Amino acid sequence: MKPRIYNFSAGPAILPEEVLLEAKESLYAYGETGIGILEMSHRSTPYESIVNEAIANMKKILGIGDDFEVLFLQGGASLQFHMLPLNLAKEKTTDYICTGAWSEKAIVEAKRLGVVHEIASSKDKNYSYIPKISANQVHTDSAYLHFTSNNTIFGTQFKEEPPANGIPLVCDASSDFLSRPLPMDKYSLIYAGAQKNIGPAGVVVVVMRKELLKRSDANLTPMLSYSVHAKEKSLYNTPPAFSIYVVGLVLKWILKLGGLSAMQKINEDKADILYKHIDQSKIFRGTVEKSARSLMNVPFRLPSEEMEEKFIKESSKVGFSGLKGHRSVGGMRASIYNAFPKKGVEDLVRFMQEFESKNA
Ligand SMILES: *Cc1c(COP(=O)(O)O)cnc(C)c1O
Repeated sequence: MKPRIYNFSAGPAILPEEVLLEAKESLYAYGETGIGILEMSHRSTPYESIVNEAIANMKKILGIGDDFEVLFLQGGASLQFHMLPLNLAKEKTTDYICTGAWSEKAIVEAKRLGVVHEIASSKDKNYSYIPKISANQVHTDSAYLHFTSNNTIFGTQFKEEPPANGIPLVCDASSDFLSRPLPMDKYSLIYAGAQKNIGPAGVVVVVMRKELLKRSDANLTPMLSYSVHAKEKSLYNTPPAFSIYVVGLVLKWILKLGGLSAMQKINEDKADILYKHIDQSKIFRGTVEKSARSLMNVPFRLPSEEMEEKFIKESSKVGFSGLKGHRSVGGMRASIYNAFPKKGVEDLVRFMQEFESKNA
């Protein structure tokens, strides 16, 4: 096999090696079917089992029962920015917390359909912190409260859910979904584009309370209706079959590791190594408030842009890919999602040490 390097890409991002190897086998022939996974009818019995097993394992991992629906949809998290208010807001206002570029986009789409209360924002300090929310900021007559749990670009993460004051809590968890246990009793709907933490591009997962389906208008165009997709068990039209299959493999991988508590420990461990190193360094520095640091996306900077350029260039030469920060933030960003190996973080830290001793 060809060698692989350390991939710090923010998305599409690294997947577990054993998942890739199994998918590779299935590409040619899935199980005993004699048909490759890309070539298989989504109405076939083996494919229906793949979807049903993925739904069952998702529920097992999240510890949820029949009061929740698990949907595999298309259009990415970006279409959810629209589908969510379209299905759930109706004539009502909505509440949003703005903690970064993705929250901003979600708000723009919700505003197309109705009145949005932006109840808190961290824009005043370039999204470098997570605002404190108190329940009484939330409008009890709004359709839901929306937040972005992990801010992929800026590298901040909610450490606990904001209080929803009795209205449904909705979350864009695209970049930290299944990275830690989730208190599902607090949530009404979570959506996540798969390509950051749980699979390939092309599928977005929506986990929602069944009772919310009542709000979803029967006259919506079917592709945009949660009710239709729920009724058809995510097989209303041809689904992104391969992407769902790979998500299914990732779910099995998470279960094998020990579920979300085990996943959290692994992720905390990795992030800790990197942040500790940044904090003791004389040249590297973090860019966000320590209490808000993301375990998934770790942004850091050097004293000058020239030095940063040098760092990125030299790091890519020795096999670290994707460390360049998002164009709107600059500097560096190491995305260390679920599947990113601890050894890769340790090797990066060693490289940073060497870089510092040569350039301090
Ligand atoms: C990447 C990302 C999105 C956009 O996802 P698409 O699947 O490209 O539409 C939305 N929200 C967050 C938090 C993201 O990280």
